[in-house]
Amino acid sequence: MKRKYHQHTICVQDATIDNNFKSHTLPIYSTSSFDYNSIEDAIDVFTGQREGYVYSRYSNPTLRVVEKKLAHLEGIGASYEPEALLTSSGMSAISTLLAAVLKPGQKILTQGNLYGGTTELLKKQFHKFGHDTIMLNFNNLDKIASSIQSNNIGAIIIETPANPTLNCVDIAAVAQLARTHQCTTIIDNTFATPLLQQPLALGIDFVIHSTTKYINGHGNGIAGVIIGNPEHPSWPMIWDTRKLMGTTSNPWDAWLINNGIKTLALRMEKQCNNAFFLAKNLDQHLKINKVNYPGLQDFEDHSIAKKQMSHYGAMLSIDFKSGQKGALSFINHLELCTIAPTLGDVDTMVLHPATSSHLKVDPKICEEYGITSGLVRISVGIENENDLLNDVMQALEKSS
Ligand SMILES: *Cc1c(COP(=O)(O)O)cnc(C)c1O
Repeated sequence: MKRKYHQHTICVQDATIDNNFKSHTLPIYSTSSFDYNSIEDAIDVFTGQREGYVYSRYSNPTLRVVEKKLAHLEGIGASYEPEALLTSSGMSAISTLLAAVLKPGQKILTQGNLYGGTTELLKKQFHKFGHDTIMLNFNNLDKIASSIQSNNIGAIIIETPANPTLNCVDIAAVAQLARTHQCTTIIDNTFATPLLQQPLALGIDFVIHSTTKYINGHGNGIAGVIIGNPEHPSWPMIWDTRKLMGTTSNPWDAWLINNGIKTLALRMEKQCNNAFFLAKNLDQHLKINKVNYPGLQDFEDHSIAKKQMSHYGAMLSIDFKSGQKGALSFINHLELCTIAPTLGDVDTMVLHPATSSHLKVDPKICEEYGITSGLVRISVGIENENDLLNDVMQALEKSS
């Protein structure tokens, strides 16, 4: 794809929009439908003879601007110009995409350490519709290959870095393997954002984000996005599925996303640097078993992260030697960091996955993938790094 501007510049610029009043920033087109000069004009739009808007569940000008920007950001380095569709949440990005690409009876192949909601969606909802899910460790590609050969796999879903263990999967290797078996690939790129990792350029078919997290960045809206090649045979079905299942986003959330993207580059840089700083200072701490952060040399997936990410992200997790007791007491002693079940906002937030995001995930899956009861997840914000470190250190000191 031609690259006129750097990603950081694309973040700041508003894409052009039909805009008679020359509004400097993106207008919110808060309307359910659009009207026409004549019935002939309406028919031209309905039948696709002329480009135009019909009804905001199908598409909306405010959404289109943000979709174009996200597609542009995610498409840097890809050999084609991708398209994007904004959805009502990250979960609806995943469910819409899967509902569109899966054929009757096909199975889903994925990893065990996914966002808890995704695991639940696959195990409960998609299972109900006849799509079973197989969970394997994606660092063993031979096993993945033999699973594809012996099962009717309709889609492979990966998440890297994964929530909450930060384990990484070799994106290019999975994409190549899937391609040789004509399997559709999906990646949840929420943790990395398009600025740290470009899966389309590495051969993945579809990227989804919970834009609720870093892309919005301010914790004031819920939305998601599906990004892929509009020439892909499934793309028309994806568009239709969003329209018919009604999983489209709305102009207000799209506007908030657009506002957030403007500072994405600055936020990510500061948040990543703060996370690396915390990780380095917590590594080897007496009360901590293990610090999960892809930037640490001794992290098991460091070399994979180094190969495919431009920075190591702003999420980390720490595993307490004293297990759940230590984890909970640490959280209660924090003064600056807040307890909140989200991530990617500008302020630092902590979460105890075992009793929140992963509460409904099978304990066997949690145990197998290192989602222990002593694990605390930290979404690192843009605060002063020493204030953050001091808060974490004083809480560690007081923790049991
Ligand atoms: C939050 C999250 C989701 C779900 O997104 P919502 O916007 O809450 O629906 C999916 N994947 C990852 C990695 C997430 O962090």
